Amino acid sequence: MTPSVTPVEMNSATNTVSRVLLAALRRHPRALVLLALWSVLEALPLLLSGYGVAHALDDGFLAGRPATGAAWLGVLAVAVLAGALATRHVYRILAEIVEPFRDDLVDNVVGGALARSTVLGGRPDSGAVARLTHQVEVVRDNFAGLLLLTSGFVVSTVGAVIGMATLTGVVGLLVLPPLLAGLTVFLVSLRSMMTRQRVHVLTDEAVAESASTVAHSLRDVVACGAEDRACGQVQRQVDAHADAERTLARMTAIRTLSVAIGGWLPAVGLLVAAPWLLATGSTLGTIAGALIYLTQGLLPALKSLVDGLGAGGLKLVVTLDRLVEAGEHPVCASTVQQRAPQGHELLLDGVTFSYGRHAEPVVNRVNLVIPQGQHLAMVGPSGAGKSTLAGLLAATHAPDRGKVRLGGVPVGDLDSQTLTRHRVLIPQEAYVFAGTIGENLRYLHPAATGTELDTVVDALGLRAVVARLGGYDVVVDPGMLSAGERQLIAVARAHLTRAPVLILDEATCHLDPVAEERVERVLAARGGTLIVVAHRISSALRAQRIVLMDGANMIAGTHGELLANAPLYRDLVGLWDVGQGPVGVSGDTLVTGTAGRSSL
Ligand code: ADP
Repeated sequence: MTPSVTPVEMNSATNTVSRVLLAALRRHPRALVLLALWSVLEALPLLLSGYGVAHALDDGFLAGRPATGAAWLGVLAVAVLAGALATRHVYRILAEIVEPFRDDLVDNVVGGALARSTVLGGRPDSGAVARLTHQVEVVRDNFAGLLLLTSGFVVSTVGAVIGMATLTGVVGLLVLPPLLAGLTVFLVSLRSMMTRQRVHVLTDEAVAESASTVAHSLRDVVACGAEDRACGQVQRQVDAHADAERTLARMTAIRTLSVAIGGWLPAVGLLVAAPWLLATGSTLGTIAGALIYLTQGLLPALKSLVDGLGAGGLKLVVTLDRLVEAGEHPVCASTVQQRAPQGHELLLDGVTFSYGRHAEPVVNRVNLVIPQGQHLAMVGPSGAGKSTLAGLLAATHAPDRGKVRLGGVPVGDLDSQTLTRHRVLIPQEAYVFAGTIGENLRYLHPAATGTELDTVVDALGLRAVVARLGGYDVVVDPGMLSAGERQLIAVARAHLTRAPVLILDEATCHLDPVAEERVERVLAARGGTLIVVAHRISSALRAQRIVLMDGANMIAGTHGELLANAPLYRDLVGLWDVGQGPVGVSGDTLVTGTAGRSSL
């Protein structure tokens, strides 16, 4: 989607930018005074130009005194030399103001990007690259340009007007109305230009962001066969940016119009009125001098103002506002005092969760303690909320009310790295990406050694799969693996992390009961907490404790306690007994669909 900008946003952008630029200027009062003084000296050739030419003509060449004419031209030449010297100093002083400002911007961009990337739940700030390499330079150049053009416009306009007034006051009456009309056309269109400029900057960032997202996710994009979709996403951002660029180019026509009205029209007026001016006492030298003030002073000053503000000034406002906004630091995870979990007891304290504001809660005011190291199974009919509860325990879902604590700390307060170190959730749909088996196994624990890999692969019964694929370093095509093989890889990947809490959400449902038993035995033997959303009754029987879920109701106990106290549990076990055969034998599916629910 093309970024859009409202008038309110533009107003606030202008205010923000004025505040930031004024603050930058206030830090260099001495440099500002020097800049003003050198700018006046720089404009000396202009100040004298019309006056000198008028006198060179009227008192010199036209009066038959070429030496006087040449002397006036000599004065102008000296003024040009003085102006050149002043220009050198103007640029030096400009650097004293602008370069420290640029350094501050770089600090701000880097600080903001780091804070955003490391904040709780934060993502890498890929737009920061465009801000750092491109936008900071845009601001630096245009800030310097704005300073030059503002001082130049003021000095040149004042100089040209004073010069013309000393020659003849009537010319002023010819010049002022079109000049004001040209400025008005420009100022009226400024807001709309600003809005388009902002869209231009935003689309520029969107291109960088989408390209960098695709580049970082290339492996996943290929694994999912989403190349065309990813290309399409980047292409849309490139097209939006190209549109914004074209619109900006069209806006330059308005700038040209305002220069034509404010700068060229007075010159044409002066030429048309020349006979009348001569008839009313003006000399040829006066008219030539006025023409020089117009074409060498007012017209370039107006053109610089319009071009400078219309292009560079707008770029400055919009880009600087974006940099200030992006440099604002979110509350940073590292600045929040994060408590480390004390042990790994999991506690649900009055937890309620629903999918949507008006939906019935799937989990309702649940209190549950899962002691560190417990092997717990969750059972219940399909749709009872087992996966939801697993998600709450793993902090992939945030409760609407109540708290989930790990080792006494609310899981929502732990940053993603801490969470990854302490718990791993293995979902039913195992994810294997297009890479080597070794990369897939080490995905959550890149430092795992070859021996560690061997141990886990042998323990989980994955050796035959690794051998068939040709070893750890051969790239796998996920489509060539069976669902069960993918599940085994996902389990091995989680096992390697040594995370003290493992949560399996029907993560072994595609394995046969023997393979499933081996996996659960190995994981239980790790010594950490093992929570299994059970797919078969055998899984529940292996657990030390069972949580039975039925909609918002939940009870916990051992197999014997639930058999004695929970009719639904008896139904679930009975269903298995009657229909499927003994515990631990193929087909002892526990998690039923509507059958389990209707038997309540
Ligand atoms: P179980 O794991 O026991 O089968 P779930 O936790 O998956 O149950 O689902 C519990 C209820 O929440 C079901 O009614 C299901 O339809 C609903 N549900 C699950 N995920 C979502 C979701 N992302 N959006 C809306 N409703 C959902």
